[in-house]
Amino acid sequence: MEKDASATALQARDLIKIYRMGTVEVHALRGVDVDLRDGELVVLLGPSGSGKSTLLNILGGLDRPTSGSVVFRDRELDMNNARTLNLYRRNHVGFVFQFYNLIPSLTARENVALVTEIARDPMPPSEALAMVGLGDRLDRFPAQLSGGEQQRVAIARAIAKRPDLLLCDEPTGALDSKTGILVLDAILRINRELGTTTALITHNAVIAEIANRVLYFADGRIVETRRNSGQRAPSELAW
Ligand code: ADP
Ligand code: MG
Repeated sequence: MEKDASATALQARDLIKIYRMGTVEVHALRGVDVDLRDGELVVLLGPSGSGKSTLLNILGGLDRPTSGSVVFRDRELDMNNARTLNLYRRNHVGFVFQFYNLIPSLTARENVALVTEIARDPMPPSEALAMVGLGDRLDRFPAQLSGGEQQRVAIARAIAKRPDLLLCDEPTGALDSKTGILVLDAILRINRELGTTTALITHNAVIAEIANRVLYFADGRIVETRRNSGQRAPSELAW
């Protein structure tokens, strides 16, 4: 069957998230609808505290909404079933965060292998590391790698299980622009070569230029969506 270019990988409807701390309520999401189409690269752009991480965590099954639905490939996820969410996350979602969370006592290859050992159809760790430009750093420990290289190991770890979704929360937030560009290059390459549907959070409008589509966040809502006709290469950016 021919692949439908407009097929929806993930669909979320009317997501509401209220954090309750004692008598204090924080309305982090106030009714968010999102569609991630197969293979697209979407950037979530908005100021700190506008709900971007809350949304990404819910889309990836790390957190549950107060109400609303998430449909993955025509199947609604039971957001109250921890086992469903665990399986969904393990089999279909790769996460990358601002801080790399590598295990210091393991080499790059071993950090990636931790994930591939429990995946259904993994790629070899060396292949995942080659995809992010670290084919010559397999046996280095995190302390022997730069921040940008450590982040690329974290990206290799996220994609080695061949996830359907790659969700990146401020992946360049701790990096300077030169190093950050290499990290964005790796993410873009994965999006293009593996066709992995990707959502990336940033508060930096320059970085949003790499997206197919930009969702603008403010105060728990998506206030604007823009298709990006002039998608730019990371190497053309500086911030
Ligand atoms: P962003 O990623 O855009 O900076 P967040 O999704 O992290 O925004 O946060 C949205 C709002 O929810 C903020 O007001 C934040 O303080 C609040 N918030 C986020 N996580 C929690 C939590 N675990 N408990 C209570 N409040 C939270
Ligand atoms: Mg955040």
